Amino acid sequence: MTQTARLLIVGPQGSGKGTQGARIAEALGIPTISTGDVFRANISQGTELGQQVKAIVEAGNLVPDELTSALVRDRVAQEDAAGGFLLDGYPRNTAQVAHLDEILAEQGASLDAVIELSVPRAESIARLALRATEQGRADDTEEAIAHRLGIYERETAPILSIYGERGIVDTIDGVGSLDEISARIADALAVRGITLAVPR
Ligand code: AMP
Repeated sequence: MTQTARLLIVGPQGSGKGTQGARIAEALGIPTISTGDVFRANISQGTELGQQVKAIVEAGNLVPDELTSALVRDRVAQEDAAGGFLLDGYPRNTAQVAHLDEILAEQGASLDAVIELSVPRAESIARLALRATEQGRADDTEEAIAHRLGIYERETAPILSIYGERGIVDTIDGVGSLDEISARIADALAVRGITLAVPR
């Protein structure tokens, strides 16, 4: 079933937002827009964008806002995003929130819900260390992980206050089985009139 829903999933690296985001997007029939995935694909394909952002991404720093927002502007204008999308990893700071507001206003749209996956720092670190061994991501070194979590706490967490004032944040306990967490998200979205069937 396809529903119009413009969603954002936010959480520290290692919170499981990629996995849960994919489940929600699939259940709703909307595309996931992950800026991290776009950057990684461009880096591995050696495109011009990839060469531009490689060092930044590998150091765990943020790609410049203008570049990232331009990419999202193009992506949300594509046909498959007309009926909604799930953003993962963007916006990542308050400047990007302002950019996204502009991008969506041009479409006469706005975000319907922001899902915050809440996971204790120690749990995120443990999950990231595991992912580093399993997937060998170049930006999953111990030092880069700590650096990115610091950026999340300083730059990304404040976006939740902005969206919180708009009354669109659902804070979800991100500790539990995959199905338990998906069910919590589905229950929170149902309250907003967005219904999705997820494995329970
Ligand atoms: P992620 O997969 O979301 O953890 O993103 C991986 C990396 O891509 C980040 O550590 C940043 O270097 C870059 N990146 C992803 N999304 C953004 C964004 N919204 N703004 C700036 N840099 C980003």
